[in-house]
Parts: sequence; structure tokens; C-alpha cells
Amino acid sequence: MKPIDIKRPKHKITTVVPCYNEEAVIELFYQEICRVAEEMKEQAEFEFLFVNDGSKDQTLAKMRQLRAQDARVKFLSFSRNFGKEAAMYAGLEHSTGDFVAIIDADLQHPPEMIKEMYRSITEDGYDSAAACRVSRKGEPKLRSYISKKFYRVLGRLSQIEVVDGEVDYRLMSRPMVNAVLQMSERNRFTKGIFSWVGFNTKWLPYENVERAAGETKWSFFKLMKYSLEGIIGFSTVPLALVSILGIVFCVLAFLTILYIVIKTLIWGDPVGGWPSLACMILGVSGIQLFCMGILGQYLGKTYLEVKNRPLYIASVIETEEEEEPGV
Ligand code: UDP
Ligand code: MG
Repeated sequence: MKPIDIKRPKHKITTVVPCYNEEAVIELFYQEICRVAEEMKEQAEFEFLFVNDGSKDQTLAKMRQLRAQDARVKFLSFSRNFGKEAAMYAGLEHSTGDFVAIIDADLQHPPEMIKEMYRSITEDGYDSAAACRVSRKGEPKLRSYISKKFYRVLGRLSQIEVVDGEVDYRLMSRPMVNAVLQMSERNRFTKGIFSWVGFNTKWLPYENVERAAGETKWSFFKLMKYSLEGIIGFSTVPLALVSILGIVFCVLAFLTILYIVIKTLIWGDPVGGWPSLACMILGVSGIQLFCMGILGQYLGKTYLEVKNRPLYIASVIETEEEEEPGV
């Protein structure tokens, strides 16, 4: 376990808050997080870092307002919507705290848990403390079912362990933040990245909370895309499966040839059985296309990585410390 720096009187905690069309909740969130900061003022000072992920509503204006009234508030604004993963990365990159919390703006991640997370790291010696939902109250049944299955499959296919009910809400110590920042891949699957970088994580259970206001940004299609990202980003097992499938079909073909040759030699019936042939051609070409699709997925991801495009483009960066008057 990590030795704890007890000489420093106060730690700095940065809260990274990705926001996409969150005008309805951002102020509410700010009030809540301020309350937590007030309660923790003996141990830590706060920096509230909001990342506007190309919102189309008044989110940016609200951020400016908050910054005007509170020097702890900082924000970045993307030139368009780059997705939550990019927003989290940008937030971590611009964070200056000894500890960094990633938290949703919609109050589904109870801000007061930061106190317990902070205790877990500073007193129990963990490197990170993360929240996991013990219930999925208020979420569509089908969605819960599919995501449970997905994480099980992902666990089997890769070395990545995603805890059941894991959400993107955690407090990390600086070394872990730096490790996460080193993983600057374009196709980001943060839950996998957190698991991949290692470090000791304490899991803190909490009851699912419904959104304070506004609506979820995750459509079914977006979730499917996210799942694929997870599997392709952290496992090459599908590629191996393609090869195995190829071998299985070769063996099957060989056995069928043997059967046909022997059958023809004994009974001499060379033309019979064309419907089965048609089915086989259809079946095998289907499998071939499917396998090519899998290869294509990996190729596509490789293509995007090779281009080495930036993860996000920020159009406004307001993260400078305000100069104190008279200094
Ligand atoms: N979010 C974002 N960019 C996106 C989608 C979402 O920054 O493209 C933010 C959103 O503002 C919120 C968090 O990510 O703070 C979680 O999003 P949401 O509440 O829609 O997801 P859910 O809680 O339903 O999983
Ligand atoms: Mg939410």
C-alpha cells in the first residue's frame, strides 16, 4: 500500500464533470458539490472542473456564470460533441488536484460519497475508490439485463474485470490519474482502462438514483457501440475465434468430400444433392462475410488510431487560476 503524505496540511480535490445538455441540473449539482466541499473544508480544498461536451443548450452560459461567482469553478468547452469518454479525458488532463473525482452532472452519482472515497484513499491506503450500484432501480429491465450479460462476456474475453454495477464515478490519486492519461487511445473504454492500469480500488456500493432533471443521453444504439468498443478495445479473442471457425469449416469440408467420394464410388450418383450444396454455399459465404466483418472492425479501429487525431478540440479553456487582486 502507498505511503500517505501526511506532511501536507490540505489536499486538493478536482471534480471532473462531463456535461452534455445539462442546463437543467448543472446549478443543482454545483450547490450539492459546494455543500460537500464545505463539509470537507478541514481536509481538502476543491476545484470544480466542468467539461462542456458540445452542448446545444445553455450549459456553457451556466458554466460561465458559475465561474464568475466562484473562483474554484473552471471549465473547458468542446467545439462539438466528442462523447463522454473524451470529456473525461480532457477533464483529467486539465485537473490539478492531488485527487481527481469523475462524477456525472445529473446527481445520479451522490456527491457526498466523495467524503467516503477520500477517507478510503487517505486512511485505508487505497489508490482509488469507486462507486458501484447495488440496484438498477428506475432503469429499463432489458437494458440492465443486456449490460449485465455484456460485462460477463467482456470478462471472459479479456483480462479486464468490470465489477457488476460499476459506474464512471470514482476518486483517484494522482499516480492513477497519470496512468490513465498515458492511455491516450482514440477508441476509449474508460471502465476497461481503469481496470487495465491496475492500482488498488475500494468499491463502495450505493443505491441507484434517478436523474435529478433532464434526460439520459444513451440511446440503445449508442450503448451497443459502447459495448463493441469495450470488446474490440480490450480483447483479440474474436480474431482467434475467426481462425478456429476457419479450421472447423475446413475439417467439415474435408469430411464431406470424403463422404461424397466414397458414396459416388459405391453407388455412383454424381448429380444428386444439389439443394444441400446450395445451402452450404450460402451458409459458408455467410460465415465468411461475418468473419470479414470482425476483421473489418479491428482494421477500422486500427485505422482511426493510426490517424492519431486529437481526442477532442476545445474551443474555450478557462482553467487558469484567477489572479488575486493586489498580487
Ligand atoms: N455526457 C457527456 N457527453 C455525451 C453524453 C453524456 O458528457 O455525449 C455526460 C452527461 O452530461 C452526464 C454523464 O455524461 O453528466 C452521464 O450521462 P447520462 O446521464 O446521459 O448517462 P446515464 O446516467 O443515463 O448512463
Ligand atoms: Mg445519468
